[in-house]
Amino acid sequence: MFYDDKYVFGDQSVQVPAHLNFGKFILDHLRLKKDEVALELGETREKITYKEFTQYAVNMSVALTKLGVGRGDIVAVGSEKRNEFVPTVLAIVFTGATYTPYDLKSGRATLKHKINLTKPKYFICSSLFWSTYSDVLKSFDCIEKFVTLDEGMESVIPIKTLVTDDADVNKFEPVQVQGQSDIAFILYSSGTTGMPKGVQLTHLNCILNSLPDDFSDESLKTAFLFGEWYHNYDTFMTYKFLCLGRKIVYVNDAEPATFLKSVRDCDVNIAFIVPSFVCYLSKAKEAEKCNLDSLKIIYSRSSPLHNKTIQKVKSRFPKLVNIVQGYGMTEAGELTSESWGTKGPKSGSVGMASPGITLKVADPETRRTVGPNQRGEICLRGPVFMKGYIGMPPSDYLDEDGFFKTGDLGYYDEDKYFYIVERLKEVIVYDGYKVAPLELETILQLHPGVREAGVVGKPVPVFGEEPTAFVVKQPGTEVTEKELIDYVADEVAPFMQLRGGVRFIEEMPRNPRGKIIRQRLREMLK
Ligand code: AMP
Repeated sequence: MFYDDKYVFGDQSVQVPAHLNFGKFILDHLRLKKDEVALELGETREKITYKEFTQYAVNMSVALTKLGVGRGDIVAVGSEKRNEFVPTVLAIVFTGATYTPYDLKSGRATLKHKINLTKPKYFICSSLFWSTYSDVLKSFDCIEKFVTLDEGMESVIPIKTLVTDDADVNKFEPVQVQGQSDIAFILYSSGTTGMPKGVQLTHLNCILNSLPDDFSDESLKTAFLFGEWYHNYDTFMTYKFLCLGRKIVYVNDAEPATFLKSVRDCDVNIAFIVPSFVCYLSKAKEAEKCNLDSLKIIYSRSSPLHNKTIQKVKSRFPKLVNIVQGYGMTEAGELTSESWGTKGPKSGSVGMASPGITLKVADPETRRTVGPNQRGEICLRGPVFMKGYIGMPPSDYLDEDGFFKTGDLGYYDEDKYFYIVERLKEVIVYDGYKVAPLELETILQLHPGVREAGVVGKPVPVFGEEPTAFVVKQPGTEVTEKELIDYVADEVAPFMQLRGGVRFIEEMPRNPRGKIIRQRLREMLK
């Protein structure tokens, strides 16, 4: 069915440049700025200005073209975050080739899996990446040439030796592409269920993901990005802020203390962080002592935040104007955000549909589209949606109306505000009742003795699965299993109680994006 009155539409008037060339789109913005700082590494305060950034990207692109890189090639980047990273990505895109990132922290099995998926012909790496994984990289015949951002590595060409003179930035033009079909980026789905999938994003997808309209407020001069440039969210937030000519502060050490220090030292106005950091701000004593007066807005993604946590952070940091929640994914960028909410923030909601997106909620069994306040699988359609997963037929992930099945359980209310309940596959079934681990985790996190909480179902005869919590204690506090079981019992319906008990652990298993790896918790139950 092409149209259903239960579909929910974001703003329909999305504008993109007719050339549909992502490289050109970003370059046209970059050329407008000169000595302003583009990127700053929070730990060392090393900076790169827009002029230096653009020159680097253009020089490198010319060098890569000389090396043979062009349309249809896949070029991988493996590096820690540093000032050369993003201009290197743009250099690849300018040549018409496809860029794909490999994460330094991903581990060998995942790295091999990703290389097998994408089969890059060229590999650009840092010396740190090379020293960590050179044996894995050398075992792949598909990689014809290695290039390094550094020097002094055997059998690897230093990028500097390929650059002779500064190219003329104003005359330089990125290679022409077919923006609707040429793949600019291959990113990876987060892989919380199974191995990561290769997400192919066209130039048009990348432009739509980078439109900066939601951050036109000029007082937001400096942005802090916590996450990795391997992830869709941080990647495109970076391009949005580059389009606006603002400063981006980033870190390699994704710890709350580094975040606090960067906000204070670099006068950060807007921070893109994960919910566990917001919880940290609501509880940690060292956070309260830190002067965060420059920080006006926090964006939080990946998992839900309880309204009480938001209120607590706001009361601790009175200069903080807002904490904005949203919901998105590698395959389609940001699907909803409180930025688009027409009725202000609503407790527990991830806001309204983003521009250009069509959303629907489908009953997981009958696949019928359901209306307001009815739970089902969130599905989406729109030009920002990826070209496809590598090697998978669209029938595996699209329904018969061409909607992508997100695997997320949720609903929208009468004002078309969305609420995410859980990943469909993570729902615990206790005695026929459905229990969302996320809901229990969010409640547990409000307890002063809980630093982090992860909930899974413990298989039991007759009843199915009992909700069981894994908890990392808040340092300096004492809390017992009974206390937490009683606390949760007071807050939730009887079927949701922590019948499987509470186990205290030292560290929560999380993926680089900060999401709890519940599979590990399930293994710990055995
Ligand atoms: P990724 O592709 O790594 O960005 O992961 C996307 C998945 O993260 C979504 O399909 C959701 O399951 C989850 N997610 C993203 N934002 C939220 C949110 N605000 N609340 C709950 N889950 C979220």
